[in-house]
Amino acid sequence: MIDLLAQLYEGKIDLDHAYDILEGNRKWISDLGFSEFESRASLHAAGLDDLVIFRYQGWPTTCANCQLPLDYKVDYWWFTPDKDEKPCLVHIHCLAEWSKKEKSWKLAETDIEEGESTD
Ligand SMILES: [Zn+2]
Repeated sequence: MIDLLAQLYEGKIDLDHAYDILEGNRKWISDLGFSEFESRASLHAAGLDDLVIFRYQGWPTTCANCQLPLDYKVDYWWFTPDKDEKPCLVHIHCLAEWSKKEKSWKLAETDIEEGESTD
């Protein structure tokens, strides 16, 4: 077994290499040293760099949507990047509301891009 996130954190492998290893091996917990929660976040499309942040800087303790406490070991959550691409968690019951917010940011971004482009 290797500890993929530790190797990445310690700079022993780079991100591209880490993704190659990840793609070749679906036994994330037993072979790559992921915790159950890291594995779950990975299924929610968390990047390896996001997982390194969670493991070494600490998991979020509040929901990005409602700002109420969220315990990643107990609550049901979904991994999501926020508006600034910072990795976050939201409660499962907050996901619908969060998705609406996400859509409105993306629309706003599209408007800005369209507004900026000139011919
Ligand atoms: Zn919430």
